[in-house]
Amino acid sequence: MNESTRRNFLKRTAIVTSLGAGPAVSGLAGKSTTHKFVDTLIEFKPSHIQGVGVFAARDLKKGEVIAEGIHEKDYKTLVPWAEFESYDPTLRQRILDFCIGTPAGFIPPDNFDFNALSIAWYFNHSCDPNLGFNDKGDFTAIVDISMGQELTYDYGCSDSNPAFLLNCSCGTSRCRHKVTGNDWRDPGFRASHIQYMLPRLRREPGKTPTA
Ligand SMILES: [Zn+2]
Repeated sequence: MNESTRRNFLKRTAIVTSLGAGPAVSGLAGKSTTHKFVDTLIEFKPSHIQGVGVFAARDLKKGEVIAEGIHEKDYKTLVPWAEFESYDPTLRQRILDFCIGTPAGFIPPDNFDFNALSIAWYFNHSCDPNLGFNDKGDFTAIVDISMGQELTYDYGCSDSNPAFLLNCSCGTSRCRHKVTGNDWRDPGFRASHIQYMLPRLRREPGKTPTA
């Protein structure tokens, strides 16, 4: 802890102490808590993989559901690639950066609003990830994860857009270097990843998803 961090830490500690014992809030003593906060699992931090990433805000257990993922109903909002072609280049790039694609189109954010993306939209890719998808399509820890570790999943487990290509430099020993929207079709990839893939990609081995 450097000196300025230490000062801030001491200042915050002092404030907390005064809140707990000071006269201004003494009337709260003994009252039950009214508001229950949702358990904080994830938070943003700078990432070595790319720009910003999502990190474990506490230790996470293997099998724990970490964030809402892609559900069957989300495929009903699919936007066709033909419409995508009519968008301006900035929006097209944003869609390619954030949205999961299929052969037919991409899944847009809620209300077509990129201003309101939840933290889970920012998970980076890794070829040796610590998240996968459960049977409902939600992001789930596939190993025990320590607080402070970056949370990643394999984009090959979610994207089936045949044009999708990510040049990967995740740096892990399992790096495939090229991650594509066709990885899910590969028999070797399926054998090792099927339990982590989006349910829709698990169900239709070797065939093009209908949407
Ligand atoms: Zn990689």
